[in-house]
Parts: sequence; C-alpha cells; structure tokens
Amino acid sequence: MKICFNQATTMKNSTLESDLMYCEQYHYDLIEIRLDKLRDYLTRHSLVDLKAFFDSHHIKPFAFNALEFINFRDEAGFGEIMDGLKFCVQAGSVIGCDRVVIVPTFDIGPKTISEIREETVRVIREMSDFAVPYGMKLAFEFVGYPNCSVNTFGQAYDIVKTVDRKNVGIVLDCFHFHAMGSRYEDLEAAQGDKIFILHLDDSEDLPVGAARDDNRLLPGDGAIDLDRIFTILKRIGYDQMVSIELFRPEYWDWPDEDNIRICYERTCAAIEPYFPVG
Ligand code: ZN
Repeated sequence: MKICFNQATTMKNSTLESDLMYCEQYHYDLIEIRLDKLRDYLTRHSLVDLKAFFDSHHIKPFAFNALEFINFRDEAGFGEIMDGLKFCVQAGSVIGCDRVVIVPTFDIGPKTISEIREETVRVIREMSDFAVPYGMKLAFEFVGYPNCSVNTFGQAYDIVKTVDRKNVGIVLDCFHFHAMGSRYEDLEAAQGDKIFILHLDDSEDLPVGAARDDNRLLPGDGAIDLDRIFTILKRIGYDQMVSIELFRPEYWDWPDEDNIRICYERTCAAIEPYFPVG
C-alpha cells in the first residue's frame, strides 16, 4: 500500500515546497495537494517547476483537495465549482495528477435522503461528463458532521453507485466514517475499486455527531476501530493507498519536519499488520 501525505496535516505554517521536501526525505510515495497551498505555490513558481520536481523525485501527486460544497448551489456557486474543476484538470495535466476530492454542502435544511440523492447524483454526473475527456477522476468525500448533506458511508456509497460512472468513486475517511456511526455492513458490501482514496486518522472518544476535525488524533491514539476497517478493506480488495489527514491544531504547532516524520511512522505502524508498505 502506497503511503500518502495530506497537506491538512501540517496546514498552518507549511508550504507546498516544505511539505514536498520533508515528505520526500521521509519516504512518502504520494501527496494530496491542497488547492490553497497550490495557489500559494504558484505565486512563487510555475506548474512546470512543480512537474520538474515530481519528475526528479520519488514522491508523486495523487489528488487535489478539495472542491467543496458541490450540491444545492445556485448557478453562480456551481460555476465556481466548475471553474475549480477546470483548474484541477489544467494543473493535473501538467503535473500528472488525475483525481480531485469533491465534498457535499452543509446546512441545506430538511431535505429528504432521496432529494439529496437526486440532486447530488445530478451534479456529480455533470462534473463527471466534463472530467472524462481529461482522464480526471472525482472522489466523493462524505463528512461525518450532523449538518452535512451526505454524512455516512452508506449514503455516500449509494450516491456513487447511482452515479454509475467509471471516473467517480468514494473517499473513505476513517474519522468521518466513525464520527456519524457509519455501518460496517455498508463497507463490507462495497466494491474495493470504488474506493478512490483512503484517509487515515483517529478520533477522540466522543458521542456520535459530536466530533469535529480538530478532534482527530494520530492513528492508534483514539477510539476508531481501525483494525475492523482495515480487515474489511483487505477483504473487499482495497490496497491502493493510505493518506494521513489530521486537522489537529496541536500538531500544526509541531515543527513540520517532526509532524511529517511521526505521521509516516505511525501510518506504517497502523497498516503493516494488514498490508505491505510501498
Ligand atoms: Zn478526509
């Protein structure tokens, strides 16, 4: 299994340049690039510079994070989403990055599950139609907060199955899976090749619906049953990559080099009983 770094883990003080330097030094295979960090990088460098870095180093780009709040948008709002997708397609074609995380909207009011499915399938298909000719894949990430329009694995997987496009899959974020009490049976019933990205993290032991991103912990330090998730992933044939994604402000205050090194060690330790590293 390839080891990936998600830039939310260093977020506060890091740059794309510094994350890439330390990730290469500590043997990561892949990086998920935050769009804000990429735009910041592009004030100092070009996409061609970034391609040259990836061409001459082990680490490779895996996904862009993220196009947020894709469903229940007005025309102008959806236009911004599509502009973001066009930017990802263009940047991805230069640096060799072929997937982008897409995130559902929060606080949409009392819509039913079927209304949410219909609207979300519609917008993802529109985005998929645009992305296909460029070879861009869309990875749909449910968020385990009570006010997110898609907040469990089962609900998100149902949408992805209904979309029924080869370039559309799901992000399984262990924190979001745990936070709203997603059902292990739903993960058992999933196809491994529909999981496009695996986000690894742990969580403080909070009741269903109470955890927020800043309650994330290093894998093994919290209450998520990672053993059970990895066992199921192995059974359903998922072994592509794992991306450490921690939004914990306490870790942002660590020196980035320490944070990146510790995350690599803890990610390897978490997966090694189940998957070979690399
Ligand atoms: Zn995530």
